[in-house]
Amino acid sequence: MRIVILGAGYAGLRTALDLARLRRAYGLEITIQVVDQNPYHQLVQLLHLTATAGITDQKSIYQLDTLFRGREVERIEGRVEAIHPLERRVVLNTGQTLEYDRLVLALGSETAFQVPGAREYTLPLRTFSDALKLRKHLIEQFTRAASITDPTELRITMTTAIVGGGYTGCELAGELAAWADDLCRQTGAPRKEVRIALIEREDHLLPHLGTWASNEAVRRLERLGVNIFLQTPVVQVEPQRLRFADGRLLRAGTIVWGAGVRAPALLAEAGFPTDRLGRVLVDRYLRVQGHATVSGLARRGRLSYRPPRTGAG
Ligand SMILES: Cc1cc2nc3c(=O)[nH]c(=O)nc-3n(C[C@H](O)[C@H](O)[C@H](O)COP(=O)(O)OP(=O)(O)OC[C@H]3O[C@@H](n4cnc5c(N)ncnc54)[C@H](O)[C@@H]3O)c2cc1C
Repeated sequence: MRIVILGAGYAGLRTALDLARLRRAYGLEITIQVVDQNPYHQLVQLLHLTATAGITDQKSIYQLDTLFRGREVERIEGRVEAIHPLERRVVLNTGQTLEYDRLVLALGSETAFQVPGAREYTLPLRTFSDALKLRKHLIEQFTRAASITDPTELRITMTTAIVGGGYTGCELAGELAAWADDLCRQTGAPRKEVRIALIEREDHLLPHLGTWASNEAVRRLERLGVNIFLQTPVVQVEPQRLRFADGRLLRAGTIVWGAGVRAPALLAEAGFPTDRLGRVLVDRYLRVQGHATVSGLARRGRLSYRPPRTGAG
């Protein structure tokens, strides 16, 4: 049986390693192929540290070939472009086509840029390469600031606006505040000009956690010098400028978008049933509804399980 796993994040990697173990333990006649666009597994939960030089790049990723060494897992590098469930085929950007008997969907999520201008004028923090780009951008901004004399330009250059007060936004704001001393020392940027704004649409941070955690996050971030804007929906992004729903503007040389994720569009395009965030609908065995040969996996409930309706209501 050919099992193809799409994505080598936490869900895909765990599946591949467990299947390889079962294959060896029980002599299962299966082939395991793992497809990922990168040759590495990225530690997504540490990206805020990668972006702020809190850990080295080597500690931010693990090479997949090293993780699969000695195991009967074939790694295939390529970006999945299309899935054809009726023909049991997956097409990659390399032109390669993979046929499967069982398919595991573990492609994770991607940044949802819900507001006009967000895609064009903000930096996301969802992948290792996003984190590298953000770090490079911050170092460039601070380096440039060291020689700016115009106060308005200096203020804009030294302002980092982070949109989204969830885990990504809160963690990044805290780490950036902690990095600011070193960054200013290294670049010559004036420390007193560092401004970090964390902008959240709801009336509290960390919307998925309780009141205690939200209040504690506000208290700690404010102590680090982060300016927190609650109940402040962003309605538009322009170059170096955020427009809020109440008409106010915030100018910032760095704008980070951490305001939500959605499942990759190719899942809906393949004809799988999805919810409004593009997440595939699965049954209690994680089989995609209506597609018994396809399983959907994600960490932390990124898939949508809807129990079948049993009553008229
Ligand atoms: C900044 C940040 C901090 C976080 N902190 C925490 C935390 O502290 N604790 C926690 O539990 N969770 C945290 N999370 C959430 C956690 O990272 C996710 O829940 C987890 O990564 C989901 O795992 P996954 O395997 O479903 O997807 P992912 O880890 O996203 O893996 C998906 C894989 O699929 C690959 N892929 C995607 N599209 C394609 C394609 N078209 N073709 C080929 N390959 C593709 C990607 O390269 C990736 O390797 C954080 C997330 C972020 C962004």
